[in-house]
Amino acid sequence: MTAPAGAQRGSWAVLRALWPFLAPYRARIGVAAFALLVAAAATLVVPLAFRQMIDAGFVSGRLAADAGGHVDVWFLALFGVALVLALATALRYYSVSWLGERVSADLRRAVFGQVLRQDAHFFETLKTGEVLSRLNTDTTLIQTLVGTSVSLGLRNALLFVGALAMLVFTSPRLSSIIIGLLLLVVLPILFFGRRVRRLSRVSQDALADSGALADETLAAIRIVQAFVREPFEALRFGQSTESAFTSAIRRTRARAWLTALVIVLVFGAIVFVLWLGARAVAADQLSAGLLAQFVLYAVLLAGASGAIAEVYGDVQRAVGATERLLELLEAQPVIRSPDAPMPLPAQERGARLRFEAVRFCYPSRPGEPSLDALDFDVAPGETVALVGPSGAGKTTVFQLLLRMYDPQQGAIRLDGVDLRELDLAALRGTIGLVAQESVVFSADAMENIRYGRLDASDEEVIAAARTANAHEFIERLPNGYRTFLGERGVRLSGGQRQRIGIARAVLRDPALLLLDEATSALDAQSERAVQDALERVMRGRTTLVIAHRLSTVVGADRIIVLDHGRIVDIGTHDELVARGGLYAQLAAMQFESA
Ligand code: ADP
Repeated sequence: MTAPAGAQRGSWAVLRALWPFLAPYRARIGVAAFALLVAAAATLVVPLAFRQMIDAGFVSGRLAADAGGHVDVWFLALFGVALVLALATALRYYSVSWLGERVSADLRRAVFGQVLRQDAHFFETLKTGEVLSRLNTDTTLIQTLVGTSVSLGLRNALLFVGALAMLVFTSPRLSSIIIGLLLLVVLPILFFGRRVRRLSRVSQDALADSGALADETLAAIRIVQAFVREPFEALRFGQSTESAFTSAIRRTRARAWLTALVIVLVFGAIVFVLWLGARAVAADQLSAGLLAQFVLYAVLLAGASGAIAEVYGDVQRAVGATERLLELLEAQPVIRSPDAPMPLPAQERGARLRFEAVRFCYPSRPGEPSLDALDFDVAPGETVALVGPSGAGKTTVFQLLLRMYDPQQGAIRLDGVDLRELDLAALRGTIGLVAQESVVFSADAMENIRYGRLDASDEEVIAAARTANAHEFIERLPNGYRTFLGERGVRLSGGQRQRIGIARAVLRDPALLLLDEATSALDAQSERAVQDALERVMRGRTTLVIAHRLSTVVGADRIIVLDHGRIVDIGTHDELVARGGLYAQLAAMQFESA
């Protein structure tokens, strides 16, 4: 994860980063702005009409007499203004909400797309729950910003300026006092606004933490229940939620103060000026209608400043959210395709592999090599078994081949080309991975296998399933290939899941097959089915297998024995057993039962 990129930026710089998401919808923004202007203008006209009604109508009591027709026109005009206001407001509401929904949907998509591109290091540092929280909560805040706050803010800014102008126009003397007082309001807004922004980020982070915790707990629900740790987890989640609550409340408190302060200051100023105005009317320096007009504008002004303060708080919250999203959007994976990738040499019989003095430390454990001075070749079509005690580095070899990480020293070559010079997708496209635990997605059997190659036809999927010895059991499922395999494939046995995984890899027709054998023992029948499948699949392909079964090591062309990240021996099963080293010990323990 890169350092928090938004941390040093001002609010404006952060919000400007949202512009690319708004730019495509300029026309829509234009419509919204137009509706906004019309609505604000209509609102500002209302007090004018009121003044005419009061001065021309009620005050002089001539409503029914000479000015009668005149007053009717003003009433009619007032209704007309209300009509315009209503239509303009509806249009503004619609276009602005549309923008909010659109932008947050686009952001969600962009962020998710960027997250998917990240490398292993990213996911080791950022929990998935945290990513989910940013994807959901933070984009929702931005939706509020674009869909509500900005329009609210603009409308009130317009009203504010308009009302102020009309105040000056109505009574320059009174309004100069009001303006002076308003300046006093700005300072606390700025101070509290900054505080709200900081607290908002803290509170979003706390919320994300509690989300991450829930995610982790639910992912391991079987273990949690098996260890009867429900009360413990409930407590932990409770504490985390509580801390999210506390920081949310601290943010809310700052905002509440902000709002209260603004209202007090603004209304204080207005009441004070009203008092002056009332004295002016008493002294016959001002007409009652004019004072009414002044009061309406002053109330508009006060309302607008209150709303602006509120919006300012919202904007600061959204800035916090935007920062968190930008961190994801701007994160660049270290592992990516080179600008000018080398073409992958055409493979006929499977890839040639070469590890050249590879030394590799995981980013979280620099200086502690998980692989060291690793040097070996695998010929096209050869099957090589990796054997060694737990923690020897077998899985790490696979990680490097898939280019989840890059080695710090040395090079890994596929058909003579350094992996770092290949297009990442092309490299991974030539590899078929059968993981120890095959993941089954919530989809039917057909789609689960097709995951290996999305453009495969039904016939190709079935052929792959046959090769993987999965066809018979799939046919026997209630709906055959259309049977829905429940979430995480709970309805399949371990051996069946594995064969789905093998079929998926076969479908890719990979030049290099990476096989991580399941450690858990399968029943004899399943074992035979899986073994048959593997033998068929490995034929003609270069295969690297992390071996846990005797049949696999015996069948391998060569065995590489790893320990503490180094190669301790290479040979066939018989050679290695005869030498009586680490392999002989391992074989005696591990493969005994097989
Ligand atoms: P094996 O598959 O042979 O059991 P691994 O390749 O998984 O061994 O691990 C080799 C070494 O690298 C071990 O010491 C392990 O603790 C360490 N290791 C594995 N994965 C990571 C990781 N993501 N971050 C840090 N260290 C790791």
